[in-house]
Amino acid sequence: AKHVQETALSSRETASTAKRKAVAVTRPSEVEAARLLLPIVAEEQPIMEAILLNSVVIICGETGSGKTTQVPQFLYEAGFGSLDSENPGMIGVTQPRRVAAVSMAARVAHELNLPSSRVSYQIRYDASVSPSTVIKFMTDGVLLRELATDFLLAKYSVIIIDEAHERSMNTDILIGVLSRVIKLREDMWREGKDGVKPLRLIIMSATLRVSDFAENKMLFKTAPPIISVPARQHPVTVHFSRRTPSDYVTEAVRKASKIHARLPPGGVLIFLTGQNEIAGVCRKLELRYGKKALEERRKARRSAEDIDLGNVQKEQAELAADIDRDGAAAEEDAEALDSDADSDADDELGIDKEETDVPMHIVPLYALLPSEKQMQVFRPPPSGTRLVVVSTNVAETSLTIPDIRYVVDCGRAKERRYDVANGIQAFQVSWISKASAAQRAGRAGRTGPGHCYRLYSSALYEHYFDQFSKPEILRVPIEGVVLQMKSMNIDAVINFPFPTPPDRTSLRKAETILTHLGALKVQSKGSVVLGGSITEIGKAMSLFPLSPRYSRMLVSGRQHGCLPYVIAIVSALSVGDPFLREEALVEGEEESDDDDESLPHLTTEAAKAKETRRLRRRAFFQSQQLHASLGDSISDIFRILSVVGAYEYAGGGHKFCTDHFVRPKAMEEIHKLRAQISNIVQSNFPEMDAGFVANPPPPTNLQLKVLRQLIAAGFIDQVAIRKDLVQRTGLLGEKYTTSKGVPYQALGIAEDVFIHPSSVLANTPPPDYVVFLEVVRTSRVYIKGLTTINVAWLSSLGKPLCSFSKPLKSKDGRSMVIPHFGPAGWELPPIEAKCQ
Ligand code: ADP
Ligand code: MG
Repeated sequence: AKHVQETALSSRETASTAKRKAVAVTRPSEVEAARLLLPIVAEEQPIMEAILLNSVVIICGETGSGKTTQVPQFLYEAGFGSLDSENPGMIGVTQPRRVAAVSMAARVAHELNLPSSRVSYQIRYDASVSPSTVIKFMTDGVLLRELATDFLLAKYSVIIIDEAHERSMNTDILIGVLSRVIKLREDMWREGKDGVKPLRLIIMSATLRVSDFAENKMLFKTAPPIISVPARQHPVTVHFSRRTPSDYVTEAVRKASKIHARLPPGGVLIFLTGQNEIAGVCRKLELRYGKKALEERRKARRSAEDIDLGNVQKEQAELAADIDRDGAAAEEDAEALDSDADSDADDELGIDKEETDVPMHIVPLYALLPSEKQMQVFRPPPSGTRLVVVSTNVAETSLTIPDIRYVVDCGRAKERRYDVANGIQAFQVSWISKASAAQRAGRAGRTGPGHCYRLYSSALYEHYFDQFSKPEILRVPIEGVVLQMKSMNIDAVINFPFPTPPDRTSLRKAETILTHLGALKVQSKGSVVLGGSITEIGKAMSLFPLSPRYSRMLVSGRQHGCLPYVIAIVSALSVGDPFLREEALVEGEEESDDDDESLPHLTTEAAKAKETRRLRRRAFFQSQQLHASLGDSISDIFRILSVVGAYEYAGGGHKFCTDHFVRPKAMEEIHKLRAQISNIVQSNFPEMDAGFVANPPPPTNLQLKVLRQLIAAGFIDQVAIRKDLVQRTGLLGEKYTTSKGVPYQALGIAEDVFIHPSSVLANTPPPDYVVFLEVVRTSRVYIKGLTTINVAWLSSLGKPLCSFSKPLKSKDGRSMVIPHFGPAGWELPPIEAKCQ
């Protein structure tokens, strides 16, 4: 029975039994009726046949065609999932978003009439799985982590990767890994290994753009079959705005108000970027058109004498005036709704300028909303109300909300971005792609013809929207991805079958950095050998959703109570430099500070201005000194740490920021990020104490030393040495008073580098060794964000790939060693051992 062709997993006979249902299910009658309307239900036979004959199948179908809810049910009925069938093991379904994993599990459980212990979900912080789970919805991150402990996915008979068109990084990597897992399971099954059955992989996409998966020879030797579900889409008229307002949140409220007051019944779906915006818009709409607001307004109308308009009524009155103003031009033209797409959508909304008595039923939808609230969107609105859903792009393809007729699209989405300058991952609001805009518009045409109002101009759309969004893997730092793969023991990342491969040099660079950080094993006498495997440190680092440099600092930060400070440092570095820069001031110090003699010649106005400048400059330098006070001028990072501490001690506030020349927004962000990172640390390392202390006492000298070592651990490959030490030139014995003009040699940089004038180390005698956060080129090549280090630490921090010269005697009798990149070959003690 094992004589099977390369691609075909089963014989034709087996396939034809697809018709015969292996497991009987009893669905609620209203579910049966609704299912029949879904396009995918008509395709059950060809889909199941393809799945039985192939290890990999791709299914494409418009959002709402029934992929997510129905395909797991087809599989379940065919006998996948149950342990005693021919295909033992769970049906796993991955989603890029938590919201979708939770709500889809609930929906499928309902449709199959099964409890949540059988059709379950698992997300990072929550799960309903049990030993009797047959269908498991999970985020793609959850399955990735499972692969790290069970590479064969022995518990599963089939994996569905949903929303593959989104190209989330986790999804892409999953597809790459699973292409290998499938092969392994198939080989073992062919060899007749006990109880091993082949694993099936189903990739589902809302678009037909699947060539990166289907035609990728690295992934699948023979192209998997693509089943395309016919779309049932009604026409949607798209209306662009004439201009693109920057305050799209207010604009969204106005647009929704107009649709509600003037257009025929039908749900409204508003796309915004995040929770705060959504909450704000919901509140405003509630004030204007919520049931309560309308009742109060009715009451107010009845008692006409009532002149004391409350805030609510005042706002409503303003809104009414607003609508009148905007509606005036369009009033005559009630049919204008389908005029050309380029005209201002506002002008097309002129059906009825009367206010409405119909209340809005307003429902928010975003990832962090409690799941029972999320389910609200699927319930029909109370009769006599209009459903208004205010959502993130989760409603773009993951969730299909019934009866939406109008879409309001802000054209933006929050996206994970990578800042090349500092290696920080952050969520940033940016323009969506044309493909996403089309998906959003399509939401209005599910039940009948609809309208999509875009809160941006067609010119902007043409010039600034990409055709498709870039796969996430090309936008985020590769070190993090590589570390994650290594944590799954995928060592040869260069050969990894990425659907869209990142370029080879960045892969190589990422491995080198990770090796320097101690996350990967050093092979053959310390030289960088690509394909190294993960270390214990690396495994711990892989738990943090942070740049590996920062995870490296956190992982070692448990020592000597340093964690709160490390968290503060990592937060501050992630947010960016909080200090106001007065470069000109700093650099022009010598020539301009004491020309007070010229004062009498100046007019009083000019003299005053000059005096103000002088005082300001003095205050600036005093504040610089204050910032530098912590740790006695040994690190620019301590300057940041001390200002963060002082800010907390002062209880925050703008005055503090003005007095100390720091940016208020940066300080607030640092404060918030500290709390957030503390949570992550605690959930990953329960044994760690709370990292977030609002008013940490200043670090002790021992702690300051450990902190410098931790900083060095994260930036171990960014070390600079005073050049005269390297060259042993005559300079060595000379006394320097400042670092100005003293050349340094940085590991891996050919040119001389210099200490940046903004550094606390610029005005001290030049340190022998420093680590730096960044290199900038202006008039010279400057290193910034400096911390002085003891060269001996280099050997103990994360097994760096540098070796040392024999100890050299300097002219003043000190003993020196010069580190340089290259084979080293010594095993090194852990960092704890070196704290002096
Ligand atoms: P696809 O995955 O192809 O986008 P889905 O399987 O998510 O499609 O949706 C199929 C249908 O099921 C849609 O009409 C959707 O509105 C409906 N649906 C999904 N979840 C629920 C729910 N919780 N309650 C009611 N209807 C739902
Ligand atoms: Mg879906």
